[in-house]
Amino acid sequence: MARIVIVGAGFGGIAVAAALVRAGFDDLVLLEKGDRIGGVWRDNTYPGCGCDIPAPLYSYSFAPNPLWSRRFPPRREILGYLQDFADRWGLLPRVRLNARVTGAGWDEATGRWRVSTADGGEIVADVVIPAVGQLSSPVVPALRGAERFEGPAVHTARWPEGLTVDGLNVGVIGTGASAIQLVPAIAGRAGRVTVFQRTPPWTLPKPDRRYGRARKAIYGRFPGLTRLPRLGMWGMTWVAGRAVTGHRVAGTLLRVLSNAQRNVQVRDRALRARVTPVEPMGCKRVLFTNAWYPALRRPDVDLVTAPIDEVTPAGVRTSDGAEHPCDVLVYATGFDAVDFLVPIRITGRDGRELSGEWRDGAFAYLGMAVPGFPNLFLMYGPNTNTGNSSVIYFHEAQARHIVQAVRLIAAGGRPLEVRRDRSDSYDAEMQRRLAASVWTGCRSWYRTATGRIVTNWPGMAAEYRRRTRRLRPADYGRSPE
Ligand code: NAP
Repeated sequence: MARIVIVGAGFGGIAVAAALVRAGFDDLVLLEKGDRIGGVWRDNTYPGCGCDIPAPLYSYSFAPNPLWSRRFPPRREILGYLQDFADRWGLLPRVRLNARVTGAGWDEATGRWRVSTADGGEIVADVVIPAVGQLSSPVVPALRGAERFEGPAVHTARWPEGLTVDGLNVGVIGTGASAIQLVPAIAGRAGRVTVFQRTPPWTLPKPDRRYGRARKAIYGRFPGLTRLPRLGMWGMTWVAGRAVTGHRVAGTLLRVLSNAQRNVQVRDRALRARVTPVEPMGCKRVLFTNAWYPALRRPDVDLVTAPIDEVTPAGVRTSDGAEHPCDVLVYATGFDAVDFLVPIRITGRDGRELSGEWRDGAFAYLGMAVPGFPNLFLMYGPNTNTGNSSVIYFHEAQARHIVQAVRLIAAGGRPLEVRRDRSDSYDAEMQRRLAASVWTGCRSWYRTATGRIVTNWPGMAAEYRRRTRRLRPADYGRSPE
């Protein structure tokens, strides 16, 4: 029997824990730094936060939820789904809350990991599964004068409990997925919203709709039917996936749709020019929204496109000399996604540090295994992000693969380590394909400072599932069974 430590109790950690328990590996503990489970859905409490992937797909395939209130539900509902799932699967007692992992070291003598926590504790484990997500470290840019700002300055992922912006002048820096949800939610309630845009995003109409009582009753009685909307949503994300992976017709279709949305929703030519994207579509995440442009059209919302010069005690000054008074400043400026696992210090064979191995950019075989780090498997690791499909689909594929790995470890009684040559050729393939992808077309959270794309999977989601479905023992230096 293997003792397993999972680091993080968000969707990834919970997915792999459920799969392991189902496979009979129940000597496991989830170490969670927060005071409750939920990952990004616990952390992101900004007004308007919700899912931008349809819920029938943004849920575990084997645990459909007939009760979603709508196709794109708010964050509270998604968090509730995850908590309910963890509860029903008996996972909550296995979660240790407020347990911040600081490091993990491979002990060659015992063939086990020593996992240390911030409170000075240590847990010995056969297998370690970091499941800390890609979007858990908020980035606040170093703007001149920021420390002098006299009002609250908050990052979207650290929205303080009880902060309301009603009647206040709110400055929002950024126009990514977080900002396009936040701004429409506070426009009209805030006194004035000033949006500081550096790059206009590509958008698409959000095919959202309320789910009625009859639907919930039918799906509640026949949960198997939930496969139908899941299939429908799969088809929709498939087109988006084809578009960003280079399919001409799908790409053109989405561009036409996006342009039509902008043309219909923004009649004012000057405003339209300022919100018209300049980067290739798909190079950053394409954003589903029906409310972004209508919010920007409001008389109490200003779109500022002049670059920020500095933050002043009372607001923001832009390079054109204009002063924009703000009572509250919101940084919707995203996350550090490329420094995987930082600040956890992981030391593998021969004292090798994972951060050192990854100094030129993170890599992992199938996004999960790194040579020199036996019995360590990542959830949502390097090159497994998807901008168009559901990351939970990837989680399930990873969980299935990791269960097979743990089976081999438990059966063989010796560590499992991916072969370096397999890992190298896999990484070369990833980077070759990514070099020809749309994501090279701009700067984004997908890329390191040197331009290497370390977050995204280059193909379609189904390909990832196919390639991870059966673990090949030979990849790990084992003879085929
Ligand atoms: P983001 O996509 O990285 O957007 C950050 C925004 O801040 C960009 O508009 C960026 O401009 C701007 N920015 C950064 N530094 C700046 C500076 N110094 N001055 C001016 N502007 C600056 O971050 P995000 O919106 O938080 O989204 C991150 C990811 O989280 C998304 O791609 C998505 O995967 C996930 N997310 C998902 C949901 C959901 O519904 N499921 C919701 C929110 C977020 P540039 O474009 O010019 O860099």
